Amino acid sequence: MNNGKLFIISGPSGVGKSSLINDALSDLSGFIKSISFTTRPKRKDEVQGRQYRFVTKEEFEELIKKDLFLEWAPYCGYLYGTPKEFVINQLNSGENVILEIEVKGAMQVKEKMKDAFLIFITVSSLKQLEERIIGRGTDNADEIKKRIDIVKHELKYQKYYNCIIINNNYNEALLNLKNVLISKKGGNS
Ligand code: 5GP
Repeated sequence: MNNGKLFIISGPSGVGKSSLINDALSDLSGFIKSISFTTRPKRKDEVQGRQYRFVTKEEFEELIKKDLFLEWAPYCGYLYGTPKEFVINQLNSGENVILEIEVKGAMQVKEKMKDAFLIFITVSSLKQLEERIIGRGTDNADEIKKRIDIVKHELKYQKYYNCIIINNNYNEALLNLKNVLISKKGGNS
């Protein structure tokens, strides 16, 4: 059995990463998305265990102590981390694993897992991103400002990624993402 490939997908807030990944995965077989742990409060449309495993700061710190994360990082005042055992087991069983994580965590995984393929999803203008973050209506004004400052910082990391996908046109970006995943995947499917 061949090992699966690890894909790391990052990109600024509001760029449409989650929708692109979910739509791509509903059309492809042999791929699985890792569900992260986070201390961020659950948003009203989110379900425990589906988008994230929502935990308290104390629970998260316990997981760090037990060395159960492949990577973890703070983002916008909350902690986010990737479950190590799940990812390794899936790769070993031939599944291609997708991590949708921010740039600091992505750099940690790139260092540890040299075969990982890194994809950065962005749009062509910062103004477009600001409008999307505000229009999404899931964050309050303070959170929106923090997220826009972070976006400016995140864009500087693009150079460390293997491939950049511009999401100006959703269907084109989806097709590009699927093509990259198919052409780089491992496993047996
Ligand atoms: P959100 O709160 O909008 O769901 O996610 C905020 C940011 O955290 C996004 O950039 C998302 O990709 C990132 N993120 C989600 N899970 C993880 C994780 O396990 N590790 C890291 N480093 N970032 C994550």
